[in-house]
Formats: sequence, C-alpha cells, structure tokens
Amino acid sequence: MTQDKALRVAVIGAGPAGLAAAWDLARAGHAVTVYEAGERVGGLAAGFKDETWAWELEKFYHHWFESDKDLLALAEEIGVRQDVFFPRPKTSYWLDDKIYRSEMNASALRLPLSPLGIIRLGLAGVFLKLTPNWRALEQVTADQWMRRWMGEEVYNKLWRPLLIGKFSTQYDRVNMAWMWARIKARTVRLGSFKGGFQAFLNALADAVRRQGAEVLLATPVTGIGRVGDDLHVHTSGGAQAFDRVLSTTSPALMLKHLPGVAETDYGRKAAALHSIGAVCVVLALKQSVLTDGTYWLNLPADSPDKRQSRFPFLALVEHTNYLDKANYNGDVLVYCGDYVPPDHEYFTLDDDAMVERFLPALKQVNPDFDRSWIRRSWVWRAPYAQPVPGVNHSEKLPDLKTPVPGVWWASMSQVYPWDRGTNYAVEIGRRAAARLMTGE
Ligand SMILES: Cc1cc2nc3c(=O)[nH]c(=O)nc-3n(C[C@H](O)[C@H](O)[C@H](O)COP(=O)(O)OP(=O)(O)OC[C@H]3O[C@@H](n4cnc5c(N)ncnc54)[C@H](O)[C@@H]3O)c2cc1C
Repeated sequence: MTQDKALRVAVIGAGPAGLAAAWDLARAGHAVTVYEAGERVGGLAAGFKDETWAWELEKFYHHWFESDKDLLALAEEIGVRQDVFFPRPKTSYWLDDKIYRSEMNASALRLPLSPLGIIRLGLAGVFLKLTPNWRALEQVTADQWMRRWMGEEVYNKLWRPLLIGKFSTQYDRVNMAWMWARIKARTVRLGSFKGGFQAFLNALADAVRRQGAEVLLATPVTGIGRVGDDLHVHTSGGAQAFDRVLSTTSPALMLKHLPGVAETDYGRKAAALHSIGAVCVVLALKQSVLTDGTYWLNLPADSPDKRQSRFPFLALVEHTNYLDKANYNGDVLVYCGDYVPPDHEYFTLDDDAMVERFLPALKQVNPDFDRSWIRRSWVWRAPYAQPVPGVNHSEKLPDLKTPVPGVWWASMSQVYPWDRGTNYAVEIGRRAAARLMTGE
C-alpha cells in the first residue's frame, strides 16, 4: 500500500479509465467504491446484444491496435489476454466512386492521385511514422500542415474530407499532433475480444470486485462536497464519505459536480476544452453491402453541412467483414457512423428518421442494396465522444489533480498527444490512481 492506512476512495464512472483505476486502487488495499450512472459498465466502449446473438456488439465501432500496450498489459494482469485477438481486416477510402485500400503501404500507389501526389503522400507518411517530435506538430493545424507538405491535391482528396467528417465545423482547428498520433499508433492488424468489448469490460469489473471493490451500477453521482476532513459523494440515495475521489466524467460534468471550481483557472481551462459528439446507426442485414470484403470504408465529407455533403455520414463499417457473423447468428452487421456537435439535428431526430437519412448512402456504395435486407436497426448517440485538440494543446490541459483537495480528474479530454481510445483511458486511469495514492 502506497499510503500507511487504507483510504476510502470513490471512483466516478465505470468506463475503461474508472475500472483500470479501481483495479490498481483495490489491489493496493484501499476501500474502493465505483459509481456508474449507466445500467452496465463500459462507458463509450460498452456493447449491446440482440437476443439471437452469442456475442455483444459495441454500440460504437471499436477495435484495438497492436501498439495498445497499456490495454494489453491490463488484459494480461486480469488473466484474459488469451481472449484478445488481432485479425487483419481491409480498410478503405471511397474515392471517385470506387473503393481503394487506405493502408499506408504499397497499396497507396493505386490511389487516384498524380505521381507527384503519391510521392508527397509517401514522404509525408514516412516522416510522420518516424518523427517522435509531436511538440513541433502541435504548433500548427492539420489543415495548414497537410496543405503545405502533402499539397492541395492530396489534402483535398484524402485528408480534408476525413477531417471534416471527424470534426465537422471544427475541422480546421485540430492540430497536426492529433493526425501524427493516429498515423504513428495505427497498425494494420486490429484487435477485438472474444465476446466483444463488453465481455472484456465485464471481466475487468469482475476482477475489480474480486479485489474487494464495490461497483454500484445505475447510481449517478450528483455532486461532490467537502465536509470537515471528508469528501461527500452525493447520489439520489444520499451522501457517502470518502478520503479521496477520482472522477472520470466529461469536463462539463466534473465542473458541475465540484462547486466553485468553474471560477478557478483550472475550471476555466477545463471549460475551454472542445469536444464533439458521435452518432451510430447499426443495421442487422440479411446481405453484405461491402461485397469486396472491406471492414472500414471512409466516406468523403464535402462540407460540414451534412445536407450539402454527398454522404450523410463518415464511416460505413461492415463489422462482419472483420469478425465472424456466426457470432451474431448470421446477421451482417453494419455501422453508419458520424461525428457531429451535440446541438446537431442528429441528436434530436427520432431513430426511424435517422435510419431513413442514412440509408441512401448504402445504395450509393452498393446499388443492389435494398431496404428489405434490413432485419433490425439501432441508433446510438453520445454527446461527448471525441476531444478536439487545437494548436498548442499541451499548454492548455488541466492537470489530473483538481484544486479541490483530495479530488482527481482523469478524462478522455486529458488524453494527449494520443487520440482518445480505451488503451489511453486505461493509461490515464492508472496514472491518476497512482497519483491519488501518493497524494502528489
Ligand atoms: C464513436 C466512437 C468510436 C470509438 N472507437 C474506439 C476504438 O476503435 N478503439 C478504442 O480503443 N476506443 C474507441 N473509442 C474511445 C473509447 O470508447 C473511449 O476512449 C473510452 O471509452 C474512454 O473511457 P473513459 O473511461 O475515459 O470514459 P467513458 O467510457 O466515457 O466512461 C465514463 C463513464 O462515466 C459514467 N458517468 C458519467 N457521468 C456519471 C455520473 N454522474 N455518475 C456516475 N457515473 C457517471 C458514464 O456512464 C461512463 O460509463 C471510441 C469512442 C467513440 C465514441
């Protein structure tokens, strides 16, 4: 135990960050209570299950990279590493009405670009793969850097549509370190877990419980306050006293839970962090849409205004071109995913209207597609889904230690320079737990 005595610790959120933190805290002998607002653990990586399926499916498409070392180390520690597996699915771009491989390798030679464009793409790609110097790259936007070093042709054809699709109206404020991190960490093999990500997160929650921690589901925290030497965590059921608290919620919720912090420099930094929401329509189909075997197809976004864009969403993901459809009772599973601000109409349209809005894109990609192929559909939305790091972001990040004594905060928004992901949630959760235990 890092402390002389066992601490009473509350962890707010049972996503990957909260559960990884709880694992370390409980193993160190502290009395841990995890509060989770949802009915299940898992946060943004959680799954759902049709009654006919053997495996859970992530609400939002999820995979790991072979470079996700913190995640793999944790899987090893809790004894489930053997259930992580890494297929090599096909990932592609939709360009000039055709599908092209999107891997950074010799397949790039076939992209519909001029010879000079291909050379510039290749040289910039190799530079980004090799340079460790993300601090220089965070000083410019991806828009500026890529225009300059890859050229207008490559930028406008490949990258600008992706940036618009991912960040909507905020696409030209994202710094180049974000793009560097994605290119650097990406591997061609993509990892999943036997039974789905939910099965991994359930295994992690079980491991946390076996260490003596309590995981309270459907118990949203409404506030945190100091009473004498104690920190009180409030829920609709009353208040419970702790020595220390780790919150893993969004910046907005953390500020809401901690009265007075919004008026501090720390609070102003947290409030200034930008993010965007995500929407996924999931379809269970009777036939394949991406018949060339593509798992992930990036659809170009021409404009942040979805109605001006040819495609109403960014990613067409045929999950069962990655994982065996036998796990889902033979259903072909397709995600139609997009990133939009929380005030976008995709957050207020009803589920049927969302499906209707997205269906025409499937016919554009596969003219044989027919709505009679749909067996069932689901719509998932998350208003806080992807941080948007601007120029010189490293100087703007709030520390894990909040100004409230004993309260720590480890969120997706503080993951940097790497792009948010379950691997980095595990890393930041464990880093916060280590600091919470020492008090530093
Ligand atoms: C569209 C999309 C695609 C993604 N793709 C991938 C991918 O391919 N690979 C990958 O590794 N990652 C991916 N991610 C990212 C990954 O899901 C996140 O990085 C990860 O889940 C963050 O973990 P977290 O624990 O920090 O936060 P979260 O997962 O958001 O967990 C926070 C938890 O806090 C709970 N909570 C909130 N408020 C309260 C409250 N008041 N009281 C109690 N509990 C509360 C929430 O219910 C939630 O369970 C994707 C995310 C999205 C949205």
